[in-house]
Amino acid sequence: MTSLLRTEAQARAALVDVTGYRVHLDLDTGEETFESTSTISFTCREPGASTFLDVAATTVHSITLNGNEIQPSAVEGRRVVLDDLAVSNTVEVRATMTYSRDGQGLHRAVDPTDGRHYVYGHLFLDAAPTVFACFDQPDLKAPYDVTVRAPHDWTVIGNGDPTRTAPGEWTLSTTRPLATYFVTVCAGPYASVHDEHRGVRLGVHARRSLATELREQAPQILEVTKAAYDYDDELFGVPYAFGEYHQVFVPEFNAGAMENPGCVTFRDQYVFRGAYTRNDVLTRSNTVAHEMAHMWFGDLVTLRWWDDLWLNESFAEYMAHRILSEATEFAEAWVDFGIVRKIWGYAVEHTPSTHPVAGSEAVDAGSALMNFDGISYAKGASVLRQLIAFIGDDAFVAGIRAYLAEHRDANATFADFLAAMERASGRDLGAWADAWLRTSGRDTLGVELDLDGDHVRGASVMRRTPDAAPTSRAHRLDVVGYRGGQRVVEDDLTLLEAMTPAPALVGAPAPELLVPNAGDLTWALVDLDDATLAALPEHLSSVPDASARVVLWTALIDGVRSVTVDPRHAHRTFVQAWPHEPSLTVLEAVGRHLFGPVTAALLPSEQAQVVRDRAAAAQAVLDARPAGSPESLVAARLLADTTCDVALLRDWAAGRRVPAGLEGDDELRWSAVTRLVVLGEGGDADIDAVHDNDRTMSGDRNALRAKASAPTAAAKEWAWAELTRDDGRSHYERNFLASGFWRVSQRDLLEPYAERYFADVPAMAGWVGQDALQRLAGLAFPWPLVSTATRDAADAALAQDLTPAVRRAVVDERSRLDDALRSLEKYA
Ligand SMILES: [Zn+2]
Repeated sequence: MTSLLRTEAQARAALVDVTGYRVHLDLDTGEETFESTSTISFTCREPGASTFLDVAATTVHSITLNGNEIQPSAVEGRRVVLDDLAVSNTVEVRATMTYSRDGQGLHRAVDPTDGRHYVYGHLFLDAAPTVFACFDQPDLKAPYDVTVRAPHDWTVIGNGDPTRTAPGEWTLSTTRPLATYFVTVCAGPYASVHDEHRGVRLGVHARRSLATELREQAPQILEVTKAAYDYDDELFGVPYAFGEYHQVFVPEFNAGAMENPGCVTFRDQYVFRGAYTRNDVLTRSNTVAHEMAHMWFGDLVTLRWWDDLWLNESFAEYMAHRILSEATEFAEAWVDFGIVRKIWGYAVEHTPSTHPVAGSEAVDAGSALMNFDGISYAKGASVLRQLIAFIGDDAFVAGIRAYLAEHRDANATFADFLAAMERASGRDLGAWADAWLRTSGRDTLGVELDLDGDHVRGASVMRRTPDAAPTSRAHRLDVVGYRGGQRVVEDDLTLLEAMTPAPALVGAPAPELLVPNAGDLTWALVDLDDATLAALPEHLSSVPDASARVVLWTALIDGVRSVTVDPRHAHRTFVQAWPHEPSLTVLEAVGRHLFGPVTAALLPSEQAQVVRDRAAAAQAVLDARPAGSPESLVAARLLADTTCDVALLRDWAAGRRVPAGLEGDDELRWSAVTRLVVLGEGGDADIDAVHDNDRTMSGDRNALRAKASAPTAAAKEWAWAELTRDDGRSHYERNFLASGFWRVSQRDLLEPYAERYFADVPAMAGWVGQDALQRLAGLAFPWPLVSTATRDAADAALAQDLTPAVRRAVVDERSRLDDALRSLEKYA
């Protein structure tokens, strides 16, 4: 598939200006395809010149340029050349397009609960030509007039304000100038809740089978929406620009959400079924606030090219946490940032795929997609926090206001942003930006203590820059020492050198735990001193500051990947400290999501005991915390995933004797029955019994995962075929098959599939989109087979021609495997 080169985009933008799109979509022509008519008005700076239009149709019926027919056969790949342009031009393309099943393009899904169909457009990053012919690049922004024909009982929502003009006929009002990747249409028998805020009509929408949950949860979603709107409007000094504000919770969505102006799409797992906690609501609220910030960063001012995607994502990421902590009930939002988001970015720093926050090359659109990772989001947001610590919040806000005012409805670059910040702060930020934004990698920080008996005689903070990308980053941070659950010493520092004295620590009592970056303000690998590391099992949970505990948990997990911490010590810390962790956010993230690298770095003979220990820790929390509390709910979910207590699992799978608060919770039943299957104690009849009670989209997917988990050769053969065959399954179904397939306790059975992974998954690039395939290639990687043979197979695959998505996934997983092998060599 052709991916637009940056040089081609530059040449096209130099030649043409798009003045408007008229797009008509007919969604009432069957379940496989739809009809698309795109009429584009554009001007050309060099009459007589040529350019090209992007179109990825199933069948092109006609192409008309300035009244002259172009043969549909002239389309090559995804392009058609437009010759002999006039000053003002009109091109019209009529085509039949195909609905997608991988969440990219115009995705169509069927809800098994009631058989109803739902459609949504996700045109990011370069899927717009699969929906309408266009000049698909972010800097050719233009207003859109969209009309839609749809079945009579459908609702149509899009970027412009929707009006139903006749049964099944919808008109969306003319938009402000939009980049192609922001255009969306959502259509189907959606259930809706409406509201209004400061003259803006608000809507939240979800599948009809989620209507009860939507009505129950919409007030909270709308409350955060309004808080974020007010906060952004006030801070940015530029009003919200895109008319009605709709939030559509759509099925089988690849990302968390997408910031389509006026019509944000979210994954519909955010409309919670069954039991959920404050944490789940925090995560959803974070995404709501993130997308609202994009209405300014990204939508009103758009990146000129994909190398500046951090301008969108780092800001939205930063703003979401700022808004949540300052303007909503979620004061703990920065704790969540540390333990969920930064850990994601730190994991990327361990791989060869890491890259600078800004200015990654992005020679074409396809490779740019690979940089939507923890660096562009979490590291970028952390760097913004360092920028604010460096220039002050007033200068930062003044810079943002100037930047938005100057580039509204247009495009901007890194240089534009930096210039605005330099003007607002009156400082030269060139060296700062080079170090923090244009250089990849992170520093390692540690504290060197000189003790005199039980008092500190001298203390310095050490900063070590990676050899691969040397630079001098200034860090603003604090160092805090704890003893007996109290802060006993602290110092606020700016690190400019390899060693920086910490005079405020001198004379203080020797701490039990000494935490560099205790406020979690900077971005670095924290190398704990030996005494602190040794004290973690006993004392970690007594540290009173959640941000410091986040840094300690992170240092442990990071340390396992860096092969500086024995995974057995990390596990011992988990067993002793985790059950007493005071923060729900940290309890959940550490308990359920972060110990993968630790498990991978243990011998097979150790892993069964580790799973039993984790189940015991979960049971301890369940026994100690109040029944029905969110902590007990987190613990129950971990217990269902890890316990070997077959009687308990049988009860829970049947919905019997479940912990308070989890009555009627389908997810718990699925976890329990899947665990039974993994243990060889459950089969198809048990899966069917749970499934009969949950004939929903998520029920269907959970059934696939449970079946793929069975410890039999036949089940694995079936699951692998379902996973890798082009048979119309959605990307979500494949992801669930993959997440059930690999089980550490089933290594013998799984051995042959390492080779098959490296043959079958790359071959899927022909029919699965890059975005979906990158996720799948990660999930389907043979990670329980930690061996040099798997590493060699990965190396052999990497020597072949792979698409960017598969290559990125294999590079990252291979690096995770290599870290585990090095750890085994050092510690096992
Ligand atoms: Zn975003």
